[in-house]
Amino acid sequence: MLQLKSAREIETMAVGGRILAEAHLAARDAVAAGMSTWDIDQVVEDFIRSKGAVPSFKGLYGFPASICASVNEEIVHGIPNKKKILRDGDIISVDIGVFFGGLHTDSARTYPVGPIDAETQRLLDVTEASLVAGMQAAVIGNHVGDIGHAVESVVKAGGFTVVRDLVGHGVGHMMHEEPQIPNHGKPKRGMRLVAGLTIAIEPMVNIGTEKTRTLGDKWTVVTADGKNSAHFEHTVAVTEDGPVVLTRL
Ligand code: MG
Ligand code: MG
Repeated sequence: MLQLKSAREIETMAVGGRILAEAHLAARDAVAAGMSTWDIDQVVEDFIRSKGAVPSFKGLYGFPASICASVNEEIVHGIPNKKKILRDGDIISVDIGVFFGGLHTDSARTYPVGPIDAETQRLLDVTEASLVAGMQAAVIGNHVGDIGHAVESVVKAGGFTVVRDLVGHGVGHMMHEEPQIPNHGKPKRGMRLVAGLTIAIEPMVNIGTEKTRTLGDKWTVVTADGKNSAHFEHTVAVTEDGPVVLTRL
């Protein structure tokens, strides 16, 4: 069932989304060689709770931490770990959910740890650009397929691949609502976008193969070839005034 949001609910999500955006600044500032992924988790959880909000992911489907922290070839759902120490040249995808005022928002970014190689920097740039293209397609009258097509076009032009095993989603009253928002698609296909839809658009982009596998911890999804992967995500409201990004300052 589609759960459309009122203007008032979208305003509440924007408040939670601002907390989430600030939590990302805290994460960005904490990312450094020698820090563990658990350290980053603590910084983010403390920040979210200091604002009177709750980290959405903690306990969701049994997930044990507040953020997903996915390093290098890890695509998504990495579990923060005291033994996982960041090193210069790594990248870390930090995925954060915030529950505030009865509503969830969801946003991810991939951060470099110190200097990174040129191709990986380009991976980050192309992935973020594909998110921007996807968000620009989130307008009334377009279809879900237009978003995926916009994302995939930017990724293909950049010479990288889009993960197909995982998708974006509606978000709000629950972390995962209908509809699914794939990062690939055909124009004018899929559900028509309507005002009040709030969706998480989240390209996951790989340097090598689009194929994935899941580690023995049953959570961490990695690239099948071990090459780097990036993840950028925003929560966006479809409105009469065009797409409104709720998780950006
Ligand atoms: Mg997310
Ligand atoms: Mg999401």
